[in-house]
Amino acid sequence: MSAFLELGLSESINRALNELGYEKPTVIQEKAIPQIITSLDDLKAFAQTGTGKTAAFSLPILELADEGNQNTQAIILSPTRELAVQIGNNIQDFAKYLPKIKVVTVYGGANIEEQIKKLKRGAQIVVGTPGRTVDLIKRKALKLGNVQWLVLDEADEMLNMGFKDELDKVLEATPETKQTLLFSATFPKEVEAIAENYMINPAEVSSGEKNSGTDNVKHVYYQISERTRYPALKRIADINPDIYAIIFCRTRRETQEIATKLISDGYNADSLHGDLSQAQRDTVMEKFRQKNIQMLVATDVAARGLDVDNLTHVINHKLPDQIENYTHRSGRTGRAGNTGVSIVLINRKEKSKIASIERKIKQTFELKPIPTGDEVCHKQILHLIDRVKTTDVNKSEIEGFLPQIYEKLSGLDREELIQRFVSLEFNTFLSYYENAQDLNDLSTSSEKSGKVSSENMTRFFINLGRKDRLNPARLIGLINDQQITEALDIGAIDILDTFSFFEVDKNFEQETLAAFEANQPKFSGRSVNIEITKKEKSTGRRKGRRPFKDRGNKKGKRYGDQRRKHNPAAGFGRKRKRKR
Ligand code: AMP
Repeated sequence: MSAFLELGLSESINRALNELGYEKPTVIQEKAIPQIITSLDDLKAFAQTGTGKTAAFSLPILELADEGNQNTQAIILSPTRELAVQIGNNIQDFAKYLPKIKVVTVYGGANIEEQIKKLKRGAQIVVGTPGRTVDLIKRKALKLGNVQWLVLDEADEMLNMGFKDELDKVLEATPETKQTLLFSATFPKEVEAIAENYMINPAEVSSGEKNSGTDNVKHVYYQISERTRYPALKRIADINPDIYAIIFCRTRRETQEIATKLISDGYNADSLHGDLSQAQRDTVMEKFRQKNIQMLVATDVAARGLDVDNLTHVINHKLPDQIENYTHRSGRTGRAGNTGVSIVLINRKEKSKIASIERKIKQTFELKPIPTGDEVCHKQILHLIDRVKTTDVNKSEIEGFLPQIYEKLSGLDREELIQRFVSLEFNTFLSYYENAQDLNDLSTSSEKSGKVSSENMTRFFINLGRKDRLNPARLIGLINDQQITEALDIGAIDILDTFSFFEVDKNFEQETLAAFEANQPKFSGRSVNIEITKKEKSTGRRKGRRPFKDRGNKKGKRYGDQRRKHNPAAGFGRKRKRKR
């Protein structure tokens, strides 16, 4: 007998599952399905995305729902539109052989009238985002008086996103006799409070240990400094040529910045965040699902609705504010039987967070050195050779060209041919990494001294001085108040009578300008202005304008810099969007 039939599901559901390729139930399905089918008790389920939780709550509902009754019998709340649509589609697939079952999905940002029309036609199962569900209840288009099951999917995420009031309203609109099924990856106190206030003696099931990371996920961290954070990210991408990853950032601005940098450096990347329109988000997600994008830089919220099972990596460009969110992020990889790596880039000040996460997920992190230029080149060359070896040769398509090609290459022996071919692909890449610095040294040395050396600093003028009662500590406080970036390196400070100078990490000079501009801070009642100043070189000359011949050939220098600004990825045709 099929394992799904043994759980108490009927043949029509089993048939649909077979067609979907579900051979045996996942852990959460094994535990939750019989529990829901046989008991009216509420249920608290610890389950992350990727554990098969959607089927765990929807299959028993389909099993028990009254097909002949058009009233809404189940309401399923989910945090995002994408996730709601995904759940609605999954249920429709599961109900393929239950022809009278109707599922309607409702969410914001779409025409409400259309959704009202669909609800009027009757739907035993409604899936919705909290805001739109409450709207429809208020308009009396959605009637929950006959609801037997209320599912709160990703309850922690709904509360994180500020839907507490909406959840309360939906809960109030449902009868007391209903069965509440609460699914959450983590159980912070806000989720426990919902469970306490709205559930009666709930049974508990878990897809693994409470709050634990998936066994299929390896947790790794790299020690960086703020100025090596981005170069380290690039090295990680370069040492993993087949990377298919979400890079998590904390803010929309950070997301856009990292994506823009990666794209301009030739990587196959894009961004996903709340400043994009729904249509733009849909396009990016579809491209990512199709693997036309290798690295998706995203905020936590925007990535919620993305259903991809085969990510190779999750990269925490910056750790989330709440440790719980790390579980959500890392759970995006190692899904559906695949293995994955969750990477954290961490500076010295953030290091204690690793221990807190380890305690939470009950797994240990491995500290890995940032790959050196040599290691990256080695990996990339072997990867290219592997690709050459496994490429399908379509003889009929190239046959016509071959005689001419053989003729042209006739003077070259095997070794020479290989050398030329490797050089053609790799010259740019090798020269980029030729004198690449060891980022591990850079990260740890600047961590140790707590300072970045002067040539990596930008010097700023500030219109405040001793007369304004400015001192170094107050200046550092003022800079920190602008929240330019976490753990910004601040260098030399010179306080003069009416103005002063300070240095900050060159990588953040634009962010520093932008933050002061946006915040318009005041100090001792005065508006604060800052400007970038030229650093004085120790030429032994007196201050002032240097003679023209000393200023160097700016144009020539700029060209030189640009030539050195190499795009490693482009060398490997990453822009030619490969479909794996
Ligand atoms: P979920 O945790 O519900 O988002 O499911 C994660 C992925 O696992 C989805 O792509 C499901 O289609 C798939 N899945 C769920 N249950 C099973 C199962 N029993 N066998 C195979 N795949 C499954």
